[in-house]
Amino acid sequence: MHAHGDATTDTALATWVPIGDADFPIQNLPYGAIVRDGETEPHLAVAIGDHALDLGVLAREGTFDDVLGADARTLLGGPSLDALLARDRTTWRRVRAAISRYLRADTPAVRREISTRALVLRRDVRNVLPLTVGAYVDFYASLEHATNLGRILRPGEESLLPNWRWLPIGYHGRASTIHCETVVRRPHGQIARASGVPQYAATHKLDYEIELACITGDASAGPITAERARDTVFGVALLCDWSARDLQAWEYRPLGPFLSKSFATTLGPWIVSIDALEPFRRASRVQEPPPLPHLVAESRGAFDIVASASLRSAAMIARGDVPDRVAEVNARDLYWTIGQQLAHVASNGTRIRAGDVYASGTISGREPENGGSLIERTRDGTAPLRLSDGTTRAYLEDGDEVTFRAQARDSHAVAIGFGSLCARVVGRS
Ligand code: MN
Repeated sequence: MHAHGDATTDTALATWVPIGDADFPIQNLPYGAIVRDGETEPHLAVAIGDHALDLGVLAREGTFDDVLGADARTLLGGPSLDALLARDRTTWRRVRAAISRYLRADTPAVRREISTRALVLRRDVRNVLPLTVGAYVDFYASLEHATNLGRILRPGEESLLPNWRWLPIGYHGRASTIHCETVVRRPHGQIARASGVPQYAATHKLDYEIELACITGDASAGPITAERARDTVFGVALLCDWSARDLQAWEYRPLGPFLSKSFATTLGPWIVSIDALEPFRRASRVQEPPPLPHLVAESRGAFDIVASASLRSAAMIARGDVPDRVAEVNARDLYWTIGQQLAHVASNGTRIRAGDVYASGTISGREPENGGSLIERTRDGTAPLRLSDGTTRAYLEDGDEVTFRAQARDSHAVAIGFGSLCARVVGRS
């Protein structure tokens, strides 16, 4: 068994499902909601290799009744994770252990006929949003990102504002526009002009932000410590915070981003359980000044998760070219931990609730290629990227496809991935 995990992350575990996509070994088992060919109702599923295991089919057949009892159908038989999110970490672990046991190579009791119906190739299903999103908060936890953005948006002023090192800066985003769709529509909004009179037009500066989001269960009313807040986290998914930089630059003072962000936020298709991520915990960054007592970081509050962004133009897609990788970042570099972010949210007495989404903010690192957004990568378009089709990009163009991937690695654990978050930009006529 792994020193930091439970039996479900044991490196010796093997599955009877044919090996496929390395993102999804049996040690991962991320949750999603799939719509199967010819159906309309989503089913809960876990990703395993190239397949999705349809938990709805299994739960309704009574597969998990022996270990989960009547809970099995309630928690896994519905179209979303809502019922499971409403429970606590003890239940989440029982459910994960039951699914892990079902998929283990040494489990003799797998009923072949049901298994055949429950196992479907992921390329044959569509992922939909697997939860009813409650609150959505976007943080700003990367020191490098906050510094880069400060330099670009407030030239000549202090790039990092004085509050930044004392509290995890964030804003409440728009929960109702979080989706798992594969397109993003270019928004219209107000853009400043030299005349002083803004125009209402389609954004010229559509951008992405590479982020990780944690999805929570219920917590008692705050305040709670960062250590306690960790147990509130159900899982982590990729998240793309689409951003219209020209709209943002005009609107964001004094209350922060508003319509430049609220038009769409894409959640990755698979939510990796916090228990699957245990082996990838790391000591978090040294914080200077030390945080106030109510924001002291949990132990090993960072995660070694490498994430990347890739771009493909319409021409590259038409030719079948592979995407160009334009950024690589590591969540280990984030300054504020998940526990600190949640402790901060709850520090005024607010309750963290099941189905809340708390995003990290753009993950950036020290080097230019570690810029987790195009505004950083191209220095607000002044240093455009060259794509392999010979064209350049200051910001996203219609027809461009953005793909995020992420993987957690450790020499003593089986690496796990988050699948791919992939969306194409469409214009609005
Ligand atoms: Mn963001």
